[in-house]
Amino acid sequence: MCGIIGYCGDKNASTVLLEGLKRLEYRGYDSAGICVGIDKALKIVKCKGKIKDLKAIVPENFPGNYGIGHTRWATHGEVNDVNAHPHTDGSGKVAIVHNGIIENFQTLKNKLQREGHEFRTETDSEVIAHLIGTFYQGDLEKAVREAIGLLKGTYGIVCVHADEPNRMIGARNGSPLVLGVGEHEMFLGSDVTAMMAYTKQVVYLEDGEIVDVTDKGFRTSDYDDREIAKEIDHIDWELQQIEKDGFPNFMEKEIFEQPESIRRCMSGRLDTELATGHLGGLNLSSKELLEVERVKIIAAGTSYHAGMVASYLMESMARIPASAELASEVRYRNPIVERNSLYFAVSQSGETIDTLFAMRELQRKGARVLGICNVVGSTIPRESDGGVYIHSGPEIAVASTKAFTSQLMAFYIFALSMARMRDMSYETGHTLLDGMKAIPDQVVRVLEQKNAIRDLAMKYSSSENFLFLGRGINYPVALEGALKLKEISYIHAEGYSAAEIKHGPIALINEQTPSLFLVPDDRLREKVISNMKEIKARQGKVIAVAVEGDEEVGDIADDTIFIPSTHELLYPFLMVVPLQLFAYYTALDLGRNVDQPRNLAKSVTVE
Ligand code: GLU
Repeated sequence: MCGIIGYCGDKNASTVLLEGLKRLEYRGYDSAGICVGIDKALKIVKCKGKIKDLKAIVPENFPGNYGIGHTRWATHGEVNDVNAHPHTDGSGKVAIVHNGIIENFQTLKNKLQREGHEFRTETDSEVIAHLIGTFYQGDLEKAVREAIGLLKGTYGIVCVHADEPNRMIGARNGSPLVLGVGEHEMFLGSDVTAMMAYTKQVVYLEDGEIVDVTDKGFRTSDYDDREIAKEIDHIDWELQQIEKDGFPNFMEKEIFEQPESIRRCMSGRLDTELATGHLGGLNLSSKELLEVERVKIIAAGTSYHAGMVASYLMESMARIPASAELASEVRYRNPIVERNSLYFAVSQSGETIDTLFAMRELQRKGARVLGICNVVGSTIPRESDGGVYIHSGPEIAVASTKAFTSQLMAFYIFALSMARMRDMSYETGHTLLDGMKAIPDQVVRVLEQKNAIRDLAMKYSSSENFLFLGRGINYPVALEGALKLKEISYIHAEGYSAAEIKHGPIALINEQTPSLFLVPDDRLREKVISNMKEIKARQGKVIAVAVEGDEEVGDIADDTIFIPSTHELLYPFLMVVPLQLFAYYTALDLGRNVDQPRNLAKSVTVE
């Protein structure tokens, strides 16, 4: 969500800024702009639309060696050229880009307007530029410090001043900001992808920090101007990992990377000899793990579905009561933190603000919260009490795919180790472990059916409504299938427990509303088959994802996708992949932008 890039150095700033914004495109946005400083003046170009629209209006010869850029995901004010960032103060000498929401902007704006300030936009962000302009007396950092002292809400801000060339000030509170340290050049960005083409040396800023950056160096301090020493981290991603690598788009690439990403998540974490799992980084001794009486998972979107699967696992494998909750609800519910509860905060980006804020609230109440995240060095892993990196590699497509299956794998490993510490036998542990190890190759076999799944997607792509139905551990997978379809195809889809349809959703069934059933060969199979028949009896079309050789299901369903057989607890891996492909090919058939679906953002950094 929203991308920020700042640059000062010896290169042409507009080129670096546009390239950085291009790399940040995946985060989702609706307008973009850049501001470049030259000859003690700031020049701004911005517009509604995509980076290519912005590029088209940036003059070919646009000199200047420092500046800021932004992709906006509108929260306050229409999506239009004027509301696009950067914003300036009345004098035009201060320019800012902002990610987040200034909650008290109206009060501040009213006051400034009474003092004679004229506002040009409807955004909350513009107020920041005016405040900095008001406080400015020759030192931009000082003015930023005073201005942010008045702000309530969340922000990542980068600011420049026409009278102070080659200097930029960054500040963060709730929205991510990373500093990139190059040779004779410095960068600020919402994430490292913005600057990876130029440097791999980065400094992660924390909430409550201000960074004063020039082309020669940087100084980090807190809001009271106490200097903070920061460590420089090295990013170990390669640039090609954030490129499409021959695939038509990132989503397809990421779906097809899953055998590899799941394998990476397992690597070094399974102990065949003892039939258990080991996760370094939990910061918990065996004794502490044994004392865990309850597991609670907080997350949003796809990560929430992974957390739901995990809650089934924890209970059935380790016999530990577990539940998953939406982070956005947890935070404002005054959650009760019980003794011996262990919490997990799950987020691909590690920046999801609902999850981050819920985690902080829980920690404030004394909870121990572990992170399950993908982006190394992001805020949740840094602030959590320990955790697991899922090592999926960069996930660029807005709709999450490979992060989901790796989040699942991290939870399976954790559940296995907890189960083996308790009453799971060596034999059962081994059966599960063997099943887990076989998953990557089985995912390959599911992916091999891409053409059949594409044909099916094309057959049903004109449907306006869809139901996704599963039971038990596959119920959250049905929710995920429905989410994937609505995210990228814009077809209305609902996920339900297959048992639940008779309590309401069956009223929707007619020939135009297909139902997609997940039918593993587990103890609920017969029940799910009965639910399929209930739909068929009402002329509903049925698509099934069933286990190879299950002819009975094949006969009942109008169309069937067959997946390999596995341990009954491991089906979510194999069930979700056809649903990802189904959503993907449906969206392609409808001509959607699969990587950047409308209205959505990748890293959701506003509440
Ligand atoms: N609240 C600001 C706006 O609507 C910034 C949104 C963003 O994070 O992109 O302009």
